[in-house]
Amino acid sequence: MELWLREIESDDLHIGIRVSRVLHRERSRYQDIAIVDTPGLGRMLVLDGIVQTTVKDEFAYHEMIVHVPLMSHPSPRRVLVIGGGDGGTVRELVKHVSVERVDLVEIDERVVALCREYLPELSASFDDPRVNIIIGDGIEHVSNVRGEYDVVIVDSSDPVGPAVGLFREEFYRSVYRALDDDGLMVAQTESPFGTPQLVRDVAAAVGRAFPPHAYLYLANVPVYSLGDWSFTIGSKGPDPRTPRLPEGASLPFATRYYTLEVHRAAFALPRYVQELLDLA
Ligand code: SAM
Repeated sequence: MELWLREIESDDLHIGIRVSRVLHRERSRYQDIAIVDTPGLGRMLVLDGIVQTTVKDEFAYHEMIVHVPLMSHPSPRRVLVIGGGDGGTVRELVKHVSVERVDLVEIDERVVALCREYLPELSASFDDPRVNIIIGDGIEHVSNVRGEYDVVIVDSSDPVGPAVGLFREEFYRSVYRALDDDGLMVAQTESPFGTPQLVRDVAAAVGRAFPPHAYLYLANVPVYSLGDWSFTIGSKGPDPRTPRLPEGASLPFATRYYTLEVHRAAFALPRYVQELLDLA
């Protein structure tokens, strides 16, 4: 018997991924959670039928959501991750020796528990002594702090259910207040090809919330099958388009996607994205 995961991108576009084994499936308080093995992309986490991360290509996403902001800040010590229950973002964060504290605020404790059990390649750093896992709503968490963090990373699911509020201007303004004077925020902000209006709206909202610096950058995450994947970054201080290390410098940690050249190049937007953002 053949088993296929069908990810529904829209009414007219479905993506099929062959599944070799369903390791776990349950309905948590917030979402349907599945951990499956696939011959094509390895083990993956699926939330409400949407592929979140796969062992084969997650490095691209997690390196780009972490190292672009962290390498733009002069000395990142205190980091907040909202979402990120699979652990890949935390794994990349703890590579930075300047980081003293990572607060991970994940609303669904079942995601953390299942990724600890089935995805150790991503979740092993949850046990790093610098990491605090807080089960709760990231929107509420940021509304209760002021000037507390150097970097905030919004590693959320797609804008459905509890994640809807993470794509709104009110939330970005709240993050601005939660950041220290030279802090930066980055959020995964979907596909400019698949959801152009969302990408445009979020870019405008972050631009209003972070008047000094607000930019979009792109990365290629193969399982996100609509091509370019966007990250929207806001900064109260440093220009995030320029890493703090000079050209040609070597990175103090191992990567498979991020380099200083990729950092700079990621902000070079294709014409269709420039037009989407009225930058053309
Ligand atoms: N897209 C990511 C990737 O590609 O690796 C996956 C990130 S992680 C699995 C997304 C997490 O955001 C989910 O575990 C979900 O429970 C969490 N989440 C959604 N809304 C949230 C909120 N308001 N506060 C905290 N966590 C939230």
